[in-house]
Amino acid sequence: MKILVLNAGSSSLKFELFDGDKSRLKGLAQRIGEERGHIRINDWEKEIRLQDHGDALKLLIEYMHAHPETAGSAEEIRAVGHRVVHGGSDFVRPVVIDERVKAKIRELFSLAPLHNPANLTGIETAEKYFPRAVQVAVFDTAFHQSIPEEEHRYAIPEKYYREGIRQYGFHGISHQYVSREAMKRLGRKDAKIITLHLGNGASMTAVRDGKSIATTMGFGPLSGLIMGTRSGDIDPSVLLYLLDHGMSHTELARMLNKESGMKALAGSNDMRDVEAAYERGEARAVLALRMYAGRIRKYIGAYTALMNGLDALVFTAGIGEHSPLVRALALENTDYLGIEWDKRKNEDPASHEGAIHADGSRVKIWVIPTREEWEIALQTQKLLHEHV
Ligand code: AMP
Repeated sequence: MKILVLNAGSSSLKFELFDGDKSRLKGLAQRIGEERGHIRINDWEKEIRLQDHGDALKLLIEYMHAHPETAGSAEEIRAVGHRVVHGGSDFVRPVVIDERVKAKIRELFSLAPLHNPANLTGIETAEKYFPRAVQVAVFDTAFHQSIPEEEHRYAIPEKYYREGIRQYGFHGISHQYVSREAMKRLGRKDAKIITLHLGNGASMTAVRDGKSIATTMGFGPLSGLIMGTRSGDIDPSVLLYLLDHGMSHTELARMLNKESGMKALAGSNDMRDVEAAYERGEARAVLALRMYAGRIRKYIGAYTALMNGLDALVFTAGIGEHSPLVRALALENTDYLGIEWDKRKNEDPASHEGAIHADGSRVKIWVIPTREEWEIALQTQKLLHEHV
């Protein structure tokens, strides 16, 4: 069965085509709506003006017609699986998209103003270009809907909770995929796992018996870990103080989303730059990395306590997959939890099938590359099977 996965941003469109469990085609359109756009599909790429997301899909269909041996024809696509960032409290699993679902996604614009409008554009464009395919929404928040009320509620007056102010959590598709892979490796589902999605955005999740029971991102994506350009946890008093002292709402939003985190501490949101500066012994990079790793360690402790134990840790996403230094710093002084890692394996997890724990470590530690597109395809496929 052919399934196309779409991840639409406001000016970008990421896509991957699966045939069963095989990836047939992968691509990315960027700078949609700007003067000079760019599209890449497998090893073909082109600078071209892309007026809207539809222009990118037109090029994808043309590419498929020109490469039937790799991609087959566009008419064979049974379903399109869309990544939708915010599903609020309504969506706990993937759904077939109809007018009601689209209206709900629209209602949630205020909770995810950067992402949900772009995701809906992706859906409406795909409906136009793939009218015979079933459109499915897979939500980034859905996996975290199992977080119990005692954990997802904020201790503020109840009327705000009734308005939807609560923790939602994000990166759910990634946390779900890598935790399931870890359960396969452990050979059981009744496990206590902490997943660390460390990319430009970053979050950690406590997964017990296959269910998310706590995660570091909250109502929005600003809480928890220190990120590329976001501070993570910060006392709200700081924000009140800044607003009281002349900072505008717009400036505050920019500061928290774009100018904080590693960029503020070390001058770059690219962890490779920060690591290079750390190796040169630059004081601010050393401090930044110690803060970054310390925040992770704090949550490892917190989540182990919450689950009353720990069976496995999983590192994923750009930094989690590629930075032995960050992994090593984060795992410092965690041996009291039964976490013992192997220096040699940490340097090259690929040659140890991703395992970086020492022989005999009570807690297993794996580096598992995230496959969000594949997870969306899988969930879409499962939903279709349930429907027929
Ligand atoms: P993602 O959001 O998952 O694409 O991850 C992006 C982040 O991964 C950026 O901060 C990159 O600097 C970081 N990254 C990618 N490759 C490496 C690497 N080899 N070492 C350290 N960080 C990396």
